[in-house]
Amino acid sequence: MVDCLFCKIRDGAIPARLIFEDDQAIAFHDLHPQAPLHLLVVPRRHIATLNELALEDEALVGHLHRVAAQLAREAGHAEAGYRTLFNCNRGAGQTVWHLHLHLLAGRDLTWPPG
Ligand code: 5GP
Ligand code: ZN
Repeated sequence: MVDCLFCKIRDGAIPARLIFEDDQAIAFHDLHPQAPLHLLVVPRRHIATLNELALEDEALVGHLHRVAAQLAREAGHAEAGYRTLFNCNRGAGQTVWHLHLHLLAGRDLTWPPG
């Protein structure tokens, strides 16, 4: 068993502000939001990084994006815009080794990101 923060949130062992769940994924508010809306869409299954994705995970990753789009729409950000992203490994700023799609919205998001 991996000692994993997001597995613990999935299992209810660590509290989080859960906003969505289904059989494949959960979504909750980031503890340190970087935008007025900052959610994490997380597969239930432990996958450490994008590097560990297998061919059979393609539908799952599509699902994570559809969930993010639905949550952005429900929060009223679909028209103005929002950003989704995965950080992969330390060079990109990944700090939790359980795959998670960031959803950021509610402010002007500059490009390129830092
Ligand atoms: P990463 O840096 O790995 O791409 O993203 C990890 C995210 O998890 C960060 O944005 C960080 O603020 C968030 N985070 C870290 N610990 C917790 C926690 O205990 N609860 C919640 N809800 N978010 C967390
Ligand atoms: Zn995990």
